[in-house]
Order: sequence, then C-alpha cells, then structure tokens
Amino acid sequence: MRRGFNGRERIALYLVADGKCQKCQEELGQVWHADHIVPFSKGGETHVSNGQALCAGCNLTKGCKVNV
Ligand SMILES: [Zn+2]
Repeated sequence: MRRGFNGRERIALYLVADGKCQKCQEELGQVWHADHIVPFSKGGETHVSNGQALCAGCNLTKGCKVNV
C-alpha cells in the first residue's frame, strides 16, 4: 500500500478542509501536510476518508501520539 496522498487526494482534502488547518484553523499556505488520521504505521489507509489537511506546525508537533 502506498504511503503518500497523491495530487487529486490532496486537492480533495484541501477542499474538505475549506483551505484551513483541521487542527488550529489557520489558513493553509502553500506548504501544508496531508496527514493520516489513523497513522499509516497503525494500519491507517491512504484514502481521503482517512486524511486531513494540517499546517506544517500542527503536523510536526503531532509526533506519534495516537489521535483521540
Ligand atoms: Zn495547524
């Protein structure tokens, strides 16, 4: 299974997020991350239903904690 979201999936995640980070609601700039809600390492699928758009700051501070 591939790990990264492709271009079309990223566009879908961006639209669903209304162009905002799903965690802090900051406007997403040019650089943002397509994040797995259930981490890939824990069996989460690379699919838009398991994706969310996060700003770089939120994605990088998430670390490997389990999402609640
Ligand atoms: Zn954020």
